Amino acid sequence: MKKLRTQVGIVGAGPAGLMLSHLLHLEGIESIVIEAQGRSHVEGRVRAGVLEQGTVDLMRRTGLGDRLDRESLLHNGVYLSFEGNRHHLDFRELTGKGITVYAQHEVIKDLVRARLDAGGQILFDTTELAISGVESSPLIRFHRDGEEYEVRCDFIGGCDGFHGVCRPSIPEGVLRVFERTYPFAWLGILAEAAPSSEELIYTYTDRGFALFSMRSPTVTRLYLQCSPNEDIRNWPDDRIWKELFLAGDAAHIVPPTGAKGMNLAIADVTVLSRAISDFYRSSREDLLAAYSSTCLRRLWKVQRFSWWMTAMLHRWDSQNEFDHRRQLAELDYLTSSRAAMTSLAENYVGLPLE
Ligand SMILES: Cc1cc2nc3c(=O)[nH]c(=O)nc-3n(C[C@H](O)[C@H](O)[C@H](O)COP(=O)(O)OP(=O)(O)OC[C@H]3O[C@@H](n4cnc5c(N)ncnc54)[C@H](O)[C@@H]3O)c2cc1C
Repeated sequence: MKKLRTQVGIVGAGPAGLMLSHLLHLEGIESIVIEAQGRSHVEGRVRAGVLEQGTVDLMRRTGLGDRLDRESLLHNGVYLSFEGNRHHLDFRELTGKGITVYAQHEVIKDLVRARLDAGGQILFDTTELAISGVESSPLIRFHRDGEEYEVRCDFIGGCDGFHGVCRPSIPEGVLRVFERTYPFAWLGILAEAAPSSEELIYTYTDRGFALFSMRSPTVTRLYLQCSPNEDIRNWPDDRIWKELFLAGDAAHIVPPTGAKGMNLAIADVTVLSRAISDFYRSSREDLLAAYSSTCLRRLWKVQRFSWWMTAMLHRWDSQNEFDHRRQLAELDYLTSSRAAMTSLAENYVGLPLE
């Protein structure tokens, strides 16, 4: 068995795990990142693409800004489209901030490169990962290249996503789950086509939500509301193109519920890396103890915003004519009131970290 020792063992090489490792390194703290997938898989996984200003600022501040500045697209707002009309929300004018389009897998490539250039350890292609000693002596065990590994550490960063092994390892009674299951899902389409609109278009139609977005000047990302049990065979290319045409220029990039995911992951590890480095510098544990409550305060506001956008922009099975009219009135109010627009813009470009 290979036995390794590090200060922070990090499970998962997504945005949270890699950024945590990067931030800790800048504070002089060692970590090892352990990832189930291969490097090419994580660097090619198409997911998010909308970065809040705070995420961009953090990347620049920590030496990850070069390619981002060269290749990203800067947007000053989004369009909301309903009842045949398109309304522009100018975030720059409303909040002084914009949003940046830069694909999540490009962020991942920059982070992997930065970690490897700095001599950091990322162990890809691992299997059978298990963690133990969470409350006493943290230990991560896994297999790689037919060999068994053991990593002893002071802390484990559980950054292995929603379906990973870390979440269920939180001792009973400590983990509290608050859940809302939405009665729809999203068909995501990645098209090798230049975006037909300069900015994102969120659309509410009779057949539901559609979002038009992009990942680069040559790649368009679209989302369409569909059923959670949707069979992909129900969506031949013809139907997709028909839907997209009928929705105007609109399609959907990221479900509003998910559009904040990567930014939240980055926000979390910013708080966590500060707390861990404070612990090593001054043996103070108060920031670590406050980690959850610090993040949860912001998280719930982001959760509320995602829920509100989703509720406003989707067709619900249970929806009656009253609900439909109310949704249209909400959109009408939103696009005609500066106060309402400012509230959306403030949340969309990203709430302050603390
Ligand atoms: C289609 C789609 C579109 C999205 N669009 C947006 C968007 O526009 N904006 C936005 O901000 N967010 C968006 N999101 C959400 C965003 O992608 C996630 O919130 C983000 O990836 C979360 O980062 P993470 O590091 O916490 O988890 P992940 O990116 O899921 O990373 C977890 C890592 O852990 C690894 N792992 C899992 N289990 C194990 C194990 N047992 N052992 C070792 N490794 C393991 C996984 O392979 C993975 O690499 C989108 C998500 C999807 C699916």
